[in-house]
Amino acid sequence: MTAHIIDGKAFAASVREKVAGHVARLKDGHGITPGLAVVLVGEDPASEVYVRNKGKQTVEVGMASFEHKLPAETSEADLLALIEQLNADPAVHGILVQLPLPGHLDSDLVINSIDPAKDVDGFHISNVGLLGTGQKSMVPCTPLGCLMMLRDHLGSLSGLNAVVIGRSNIVGKPMAQLLLGDSCTVTIAHSRTKDIEEVCRRADILVAAVGRPEMVTGDWIKPGATVIDVGINRVPAPEKGEGKTRLVGDVEFASAVEVAGAITPVPGGVGPMTIACLLANTVTAACRANGLPEPE
Ligand code: NDP
Repeated sequence: MTAHIIDGKAFAASVREKVAGHVARLKDGHGITPGLAVVLVGEDPASEVYVRNKGKQTVEVGMASFEHKLPAETSEADLLALIEQLNADPAVHGILVQLPLPGHLDSDLVINSIDPAKDVDGFHISNVGLLGTGQKSMVPCTPLGCLMMLRDHLGSLSGLNAVVIGRSNIVGKPMAQLLLGDSCTVTIAHSRTKDIEEVCRRADILVAAVGRPEMVTGDWIKPGATVIDVGINRVPAPEKGEGKTRLVGDVEFASAVEVAGAITPVPGGVGPMTIACLLANTVTAACRANGLPEPE
């Protein structure tokens, strides 16, 4: 039997619909328009696509979108001054600085200069600490989207063996914290893990956040496991024509789908959920800023 394919695109659409409902209630009932400011430094083409999509979807759910595009040579002082201005702006409830930043800018310093209450990416050290200690925080969007898909598909995650491949601050570590928060038994695998295939074969939930095209093959997967593929890798696709490319995940879909119980595809799995969660976090930030109950 082949795996159930978790439709991240449809799930993300349902999250955006809920967000749009909350935005309408905030506007009509309280005169508040949630606002998201996105800061892009430099001209990385992939980042430009992400920022454009974020701005478009922000407006589509009825929120205000503020885009700040700065030249690659922007100084740290100028970037910090912009963040200070956004921190003080009551129309801005969420601030996102698109990563990676050009090499001369200190990402940690920049991220930690964002007001934690407006840190809708959940990367500020305060939010990382709050998440790690099980307190109310802003939760990073990609792992939050993965958790939502897992809960939706599996119901309770309590007691399940979860293996997260990857230990980045953006995906792997917060994903592990969230799974622990849902009472999974969590293992984090990385580039130094011994017998990684064997470790993965013990997983009821396998999350791959590595950045290596199709590294995880069907024989790494426990039959019936739920597989969340975070990876987005562009590889050559000569079958589509000379110089053409296609997107693949960190999981070899064709072999994994024969073994897993459920799996997210790439594209159309985790990716769409990330922006939907960003919008949801912005609504949460707007509610908290105004002392209103948060959406569930
Ligand atoms: P990083 O490069 O920051 O981290 C990759 C992790 O994978 C590291 O912890 C690294 O281990 C580990 N790793 C690398 N090679 C191996 C290996 N051979 N075996 C086991 N572990 C290995 O990446 P990110 O966490 O930022 O992103 C991971 C993937 O997710 C990328 O493909 C990225 O494009 C994608 N992504 C997708 C998003 C979405 O919205 N869908 C959002 C964010 C990321 P070590 O620490 O030991 O070096």
